[in-house]
Amino acid sequence: MKVIPQASLRTYHTFGFEITASYLVIIESLEDVRSMFMDPMNSDLLSLKDGWMVIGEGSNLMFTRHFEGTVILMRIQGIEVVKEDERYVYLEVGAGEHWHNLVRHSLSKGWGGLENLSLIPGSVGAAPVQNIGAYGVEVEAYIVAVDVYDLMTRSLKTIGHKECMFGYRDSLFKRAGRDRFIITRVSFRLEKVRTPVLDYAPLRELFVSTGIGHPSPMAVSDAVIGIRQSKLPDPAVVGNAGSFFKNPVISKIELEGLQALYPNIPYYPVEEGMKIPAGWLIEQCGWKGFRAGAVGCYHKQALVLVHFGGGQPADLIDLARRIRTSVQVRFSVHLEAEVNIVGDRL
Ligand SMILES: Cc1cc2nc3c(=O)[nH]c(=O)nc-3n(C[C@H](O)[C@H](O)[C@H](O)COP(=O)(O)OP(=O)(O)OC[C@H]3O[C@@H](n4cnc5c(N)ncnc54)[C@H](O)[C@@H]3O)c2cc1C
Repeated sequence: MKVIPQASLRTYHTFGFEITASYLVIIESLEDVRSMFMDPMNSDLLSLKDGWMVIGEGSNLMFTRHFEGTVILMRIQGIEVVKEDERYVYLEVGAGEHWHNLVRHSLSKGWGGLENLSLIPGSVGAAPVQNIGAYGVEVEAYIVAVDVYDLMTRSLKTIGHKECMFGYRDSLFKRAGRDRFIITRVSFRLEKVRTPVLDYAPLRELFVSTGIGHPSPMAVSDAVIGIRQSKLPDPAVVGNAGSFFKNPVISKIELEGLQALYPNIPYYPVEEGMKIPAGWLIEQCGWKGFRAGAVGCYHKQALVLVHFGGGQPADLIDLARRIRTSVQVRFSVHLEAEVNIVGDRL
């Protein structure tokens, strides 16, 4: 276990703001986790004002100020096949593995399931936290269980799929389990015989136009990578954390009210109501491509807020608040942050 006092977090989160934490602790094994929370020598690390938090690759985080606490960097590695049969392969994967590496590794072995989730930044351990999803697939469909260190009982525990309470960009780990569970390993069930999921129209059209009716998982992955690279900013080039806001879900009556004013408003029926693309709402308010000094709204996708470098977190928070207010005033729709805000409230 490595402890770094007064650490810069600039390279540990994809917005790239110059932010510091009182301590940064690098965890590479279960032994490190136990030592962090059980060894009295480390009690100082747990008793600071902001407490502690775990991060993977910081691609879904927005620090608003110095973190007066301990940031635990999850770096437990390992991809292990624990069982297989004719149809499925069961994997246990260390929480610190890079997500996209797991996707490409599994595809190279001929195991399908994660291809639509290619190139999502971040770590394996964070994938269940917000139930990552893209191009018609959510990761929960392939998660069997999540291994955690439980701070309440100070012991290791396995949480089954049902108990994880997965929802749209949501899970137990974002709610009641937030300051209780440290995810150390995730178990997946992948498919040896795979039917591609081509619900997302641009993906389907890409294969229809090339006459490929049943693309391989690897071909789907390549297509997703191509689409993502053409639409989303690379955090290595311009600071961002992907979608800043969640797509709001409104009632059918609220949608009808909006349709009377905006007949072209896009929507998708979901279990809880009608989902509206937040990017469309933000774009309608004129923010797409907007820049205020070091921060702005990405010119190809209004839902992505960007930090061009040299700015302060307050600049971005101010922009996010202005965007949220303008959507509220124009559409009476409340935008909720998808990004985890750490520090002051949005
Ligand atoms: C360009 C870009 C595109 C993106 N596209 C998508 C997309 O298509 N779909 C999507 O769903 N997301 C997307 N994201 C968001 C992000 O990639 C995912 O949320 C990813 O899972 C975050 O992983 P991370 O390791 O960086 O998590 P972090 O940002 O480090 O952490 C995120 C949250 O998870 C918690 N956490 C992390 N690791 C652990 C752990 N081991 N135990 C307990 N809690 C933990 C943290 O405390 C924090 O609350 C995108 C981000 C970017 C920058």
